[in-house]
Amino acid sequence: MEKCYDTVIIGGGPCGYTAAVYAARAGLKTLVIEKFSAGGQMCETSQIDNYPGFEEGIDGFTLGYKIQSAAEKFGTKTVSAEVLETDLKAVPKIIKTDLGEFSAKTVIIATGAKHKHLGLKEEDSFIGKGLGYCATCDGMFYKDKTVAVVGGGNSAAADALYLSKICKKVYLIHRRDKLRATKVYNTPLLNAHNIEFIWNGEVAEILGDGKVNGVKVKLNTDGSFKEIPLDGIFISIGRSPETDIVKGQLQLDENGYIIANETTKTNLEGVFAAGDVRTKALRQIVTAAADGAVAAHFAEEYLNSL
Ligand SMILES: Cc1cc2nc3c(=O)[nH]c(=O)nc-3n(C[C@H](O)[C@H](O)[C@H](O)COP(=O)(O)OP(=O)(O)OC[C@H]3O[C@@H](n4cnc5c(N)ncnc54)[C@H](O)[C@@H]3O)c2cc1C
Repeated sequence: MEKCYDTVIIGGGPCGYTAAVYAARAGLKTLVIEKFSAGGQMCETSQIDNYPGFEEGIDGFTLGYKIQSAAEKFGTKTVSAEVLETDLKAVPKIIKTDLGEFSAKTVIIATGAKHKHLGLKEEDSFIGKGLGYCATCDGMFYKDKTVAVVGGGNSAAADALYLSKICKKVYLIHRRDKLRATKVYNTPLLNAHNIEFIWNGEVAEILGDGKVNGVKVKLNTDGSFKEIPLDGIFISIGRSPETDIVKGQLQLDENGYIIANETTKTNLEGVFAAGDVRTKALRQIVTAAADGAVAAHFAEEYLNSL
């Protein structure tokens, strides 16, 4: 495969592959590098109702595949690899992956966001052994079983509702006394007969011997501990941007997002940050896709100025 590109797009979510559609269609030699599968976070949801053009909604895998196919139709190449390191000041810019090195005149960072971890010492050892971060991906493994969801935002609310339709019982553990989720979730959550709320509860320990069999929760109201037997636990406490590969090169805000405005331009010439990974008001598929288009536009403008 040719290794020097007009633009290398890191990340194959809705942002990355939309950028690729625009870049490849404009005649740029375009490469997308994706470490998992096309679609990014969308792959975690089976129903997307708010992306224009799909009146019945669409599942995330299919939408991801469709955007990838459109990009490849115009000549985009895809490499399935993880970007480990970049040199964005070099000319051309260098992108090192676990499958070798690529270079590019412009780079679009579309690496999105990843699940936040609780930070418990035993957490990693239980991943895939009763502990998960994606209810829509793994929920079916817990059919007719008892699970807990940790969190109080939209993801936690959506996960608890989704699991309540599959599992026998769902505990929703939240460290405050009310949810942060939008009000649209309130009625369905309260109406679900098999969801029990554990308010003011912080997960102190995940219990199990090689496999999750419960959780120890500290109740902030009186400092007491409560143990709940479980078959599985889902951590839904939000996301953090995937910016390790640009640290020290691109300016980040206090939460680790790449500082870039609506132009997606970063502090480095020829480097663009688009989608969930950049500072912005609304992180959704449609805004990620829009960012991808904008980034490709300014990448093309930059190339024309060389
Ligand atoms: C469960 C869930 C449900 C959602 N539902 C909706 C919805 O209904 N409607 C809506 O509009 N939005 C929804 N969202 C939000 C939406 O999915 C995101 O806003 C959108 O996917 C962001 O797109 P992105 O391309 O910027 O980033 P991402 O989708 O995060 O894609 C980034 C990609 O970059 C890849 N990547 C990261 N680092 C590297 C690396 N070092 N090397 C190679 N590849 C890398 C990742 O594997 C990933 O595929 C949902 C999100 C979740 C988690």
